[in-house]
Amino acid sequence: MSTKFVYSFDEGNKDMKSLLGGKGANLAEMTNIGLPVPQGFTITTEACNDYYENDLKIKQEILDQIDQKLEQLEKEQGKKLGSDVNPLLVSVRSGAVFSMPGMMDTILNLGLNDTSVNGLIEATGNERFSYDSYRRFIQMFSDVAMEIPKYKFESVLDNAKEAKGYEVDTDLTTEDLKEIVVKFKEIYKKEIGEDFPQEPKKQLMLAIEAVFRSWNNPRAIVYRRLNDIPNDLGTAVNIQSMVFGNMGDTSGTGVAFTRNPATGENKLFGEYLINAQGEDVVAGIRTPNDINTLQEDMPEIFEEFLNISESLEKHYRDMQDIEFTIEKGNLYILQTRSGKRTAKAAINVVVDLVNNGMITKEEAIMRIEPEQLDQLLHPTFNPAALKEVKVLAKGLPASPGAATGKVYFHADDVVAHAKAGEKTLLVRQETSPEDIEGMVSSEGILTARGGMTSHAAVVARGMGKCCVAGCGELNVDERAREIRVGDLVIKEGDYLSIDGSTGSVYLGSVEMTSAEVGGSFSVFMGWVDEIRDMLVRTNADNPRDAKKAIEFGAEGIGLCRTEHMFFEEERIPAVREMIVADNVEDREKALEKLLPFQRGDFHGIFEAMDGKPCNIRLLDPPLHEFLPHEDEAIEELAKKMNIRPSDLKKRVSDLDEFNPMLGHRGCRLAVTYPEICVMQARAIAQGAILANKEGIKVIPEIMVPLVGTVNELKLLRPIIEDTMNEEFEKAGVEIPYTVGTMIEIPRACITADEIAEVADFFSFGTNDLTQMGFGYSRDDAGKFLGEYVEKGILEKDPFQVLDQKGIGKFVEMAVKLGRQTNESLKLGICGEHGGEPSSVEFCYNQGLNYVSCSPFRVPIARLAAAQARIKKESGSVHRDK
Ligand code: PEP
Ligand code: MG
Repeated sequence: MSTKFVYSFDEGNKDMKSLLGGKGANLAEMTNIGLPVPQGFTITTEACNDYYENDLKIKQEILDQIDQKLEQLEKEQGKKLGSDVNPLLVSVRSGAVFSMPGMMDTILNLGLNDTSVNGLIEATGNERFSYDSYRRFIQMFSDVAMEIPKYKFESVLDNAKEAKGYEVDTDLTTEDLKEIVVKFKEIYKKEIGEDFPQEPKKQLMLAIEAVFRSWNNPRAIVYRRLNDIPNDLGTAVNIQSMVFGNMGDTSGTGVAFTRNPATGENKLFGEYLINAQGEDVVAGIRTPNDINTLQEDMPEIFEEFLNISESLEKHYRDMQDIEFTIEKGNLYILQTRSGKRTAKAAINVVVDLVNNGMITKEEAIMRIEPEQLDQLLHPTFNPAALKEVKVLAKGLPASPGAATGKVYFHADDVVAHAKAGEKTLLVRQETSPEDIEGMVSSEGILTARGGMTSHAAVVARGMGKCCVAGCGELNVDERAREIRVGDLVIKEGDYLSIDGSTGSVYLGSVEMTSAEVGGSFSVFMGWVDEIRDMLVRTNADNPRDAKKAIEFGAEGIGLCRTEHMFFEEERIPAVREMIVADNVEDREKALEKLLPFQRGDFHGIFEAMDGKPCNIRLLDPPLHEFLPHEDEAIEELAKKMNIRPSDLKKRVSDLDEFNPMLGHRGCRLAVTYPEICVMQARAIAQGAILANKEGIKVIPEIMVPLVGTVNELKLLRPIIEDTMNEEFEKAGVEIPYTVGTMIEIPRACITADEIAEVADFFSFGTNDLTQMGFGYSRDDAGKFLGEYVEKGILEKDPFQVLDQKGIGKFVEMAVKLGRQTNESLKLGICGEHGGEPSSVEFCYNQGLNYVSCSPFRVPIARLAAAQARIKKESGSVHRDK
C-alpha cells in the first residue's frame, strides 16, 4: 500500500502532531469540530524525511499527492491558482511538532503573478490592494524561500518613498506599487539568474522545498540540540487558502487570548484592526483596538468569536491564543495554540481549570514549569520600563529577582548609604565572607568574577537576594571606585539595575513590580504537596533564612553552613584569635569566646525550625578565608590583637595554600584541630538543650564535611558523640541526634559501603562532587564553562544542572553501596542542584529521602518533586518520606 503523504485538513486531528506538525494537527482539529477554517492541506513530516533520504528531491508519488489535493482544494473553493478570474491564493507555512525558531516562516499570497493579479483586482475591486499583495508576495517569497537578502527590497521601498517625500508604506500609490513590482522582479532575476516564477505550481514547489530545507538550517539545528529535539522528526508544510482582512470596513484581522495572559483573568484579551492584514497588526503602523470593542463594531462577529474561543478552550482544556480574520463579514479562524503566559497567569489558569473540573490536579501540576515559580517569588522589572534602558553587560544569572540601586564598591559604604535610606547595589570583583553585611544591606549584588557556586552566588541565593555574578565584561576597579566598560565609566553613586534571573545589567534605574504570592499559589502548592512524596529541606545558616524557608514550605534544614556565622562583626575577632593561636591552649581560649555565639545561633535555628530536623555541618572552609590579606588590614588587626604585625603576616602566609579548595578544609580541620569540632558539638548540644527546655522538639543532625575515607569519620564521630553526650548528661536531658557525612569526594562514593557503617546519613555535596569529579575549580571554571557550553562540549553548566551521566553515576554508586551496609541510611542532597528541577527528578529516581536548597527555591523543588513522582507513574507506590 502506498504511503499517504498529504492530508486535507478534514482528514487529520489534534493527536497527529508527529505526522502533521503542531499547526497542521490543530488546523485539522478545528476543521473537524466545525470551525470556520480556511481550507487547505498538510504535507507530512514523513514527506520531509523522505526528501532528505531522496537526495533533496521530492519523489513523484508525493508530487502526485500534492497535485491531487491542490485540485481538490481548487474544486471546493471554486477558484484556481494563477487564474485571471477570482484566483486562489494560498499561504505556505512550516509546521514542526514543536514550534522552532529558525524554521521557515510564512509566505502569503502565493499564486500571484502578472495574470492572476488582474483576477484579484477584478474580484476585490481594489487595484492598489492587489498590487500591494503582489509586491509583498515577491518580497516574502524571495526572502523566505530563495534567501535573497531583505535589505535589497527594503531599499527599493525606501528610495521610492524618499523620492516622493512619503512617510510610510501606506502613502505609496497604485502606480508606485506597479513600478515597485517591476523593480522587485529585476532584483529576483539578478540574484537567482532566472525570471521570477510566473507558474504558480513552480512557486508552490519552490516554497515547499524551502520549508523542507529550513529544517536543516543552522539555527534550527542549534535550537534542536539545545532543546533535545531529535533531528529526524522533520517538519510538515501547511498550504492554506488565503482570506483577506483588508477588503474594506466589513473585514479585519486580529489575535486574541481566551484569558488575560498576564493575570489569567477569565476574560477575552487581544486586539484587532478593521481593514487590515495580519502583518499590519504586528508592524504597529496602526494602533489596534481592544478585542472587546469588536462587540460594538461587529456585534454578530464578536458573538461568534466569543463562542468559538470558549469552545476552543473547552476542547483543548487550556487557555488558547487564536488568530482570526474577518473577510467581508465572514469570520475565519487561522490558528489556535496554547497561549504563552506569565507565571501568575499560569497558576491562576490551572487552578481555575481544576476547579471547573476541566483538568485533574496532576495535569495542573505537570503544566507549570518549576522554574517559572521564580517569577512569583521575586520582584521583577516592569517590562515597559525595561525598554527605556540600555543593556550594559551580561553575567551569570546567579540569584533571581531584580534590583535597582546606586553602586558602591565596599561593603561598609553599602551599609552606610543603605542606613541613610538609599537603595544600593554592592559591586565587587568577587565577594568574600567579609562582605556579608554589605550583601544584607544591598538590594542586589554584582560581581565581575566567580561562577554559579561562587561565594556571592551561594550567599545571595540563601538570602533570596538578586545577584549577577561573573560579569566579565565589567572592569571593576574597587580602589578607583568605578566600573569601566569600553569607554563608559560608571562611578560610585551612579545607578545600575541588575536582573538575577537573566544575568542582564542595565544602565540607570528601572521601575520594579513587586512579588505577589496570591491565593491560587497556595492552593496549587497544596496540590503539589498532596502528590509529592520526597521531602524538601532548605539550606539556611540563620534563623531569618530558616523562617523564610518554612514560609515557602521547607520541611527541615538540609545544610547549615556554620562558617557563615563566623563573620559577624562581633565574632570575627575571636575567630581570628582562634586561627592565629599557635598552641592548643590559646586556641581553646579563643574557642571559649566563640561558644556562646554559636550556642545562640543554634538555639535560634532550633526554635525557628520548631520540631523539624536540622542538619548542622561542622566548619568547612580553609582558615585563611577568615584572615585579612592586605598590609593595612593586617597591621590594624595585629594592633587590635596586641601581636607583632610581622608575626601575623607570617601566620597568614603559613595558612596560604596553592589550592585551597583541595587543601586544609572540611573535616581535615577537625582532624588537625579537634578542639574546633569539640566547641561546635558542645554549642549544638547546648543550643538543643535550651530549646528543649522551652518545650521545643529538636532533631539535631551533625554533619561532617569533605570525608574521603571512613577513617576520618571513625576518628571524629566519637569526639562529637562524647562531647554531646556529656552535655546532655550534665543537663539531665535525652535528645536523640544523628551523625553523618557529606558525600562530596569521589573516593567517598566509591567507598560508600565502608562509610555508611559509621554514618547515620549521607548528604550529597554535589558542588564539590562536581568540582572534584570533573576537576573544574568552582572558583575559576566560570572562565571557560560558557565556551564549553557554546561549543557543545558540555550541554549545560554542571554546577547548575547535575551532570547525570558522570557525576550522577557517583551519586548512584554511593546510594547503592551505602544502603548495602546500612539499610536505614538517610539520604539527601545539599549541593546547589537540590533546587534545580531536572536534578531533583534525578534525586527522586535515585530514591533520596530529601533534597535541600536555598529558601527561595523550596517551592520550585516541591513542584519538581511532585512532577517526578507523576512522571514515574508511581501514584500507587508509596515511598517512605
Ligand atoms: C557541596 O559541596 O555541594 C556543598 C553543599 O558544600 P559547599 O558548597 O559548602 O562546599
Ligand atoms: Mg562542599
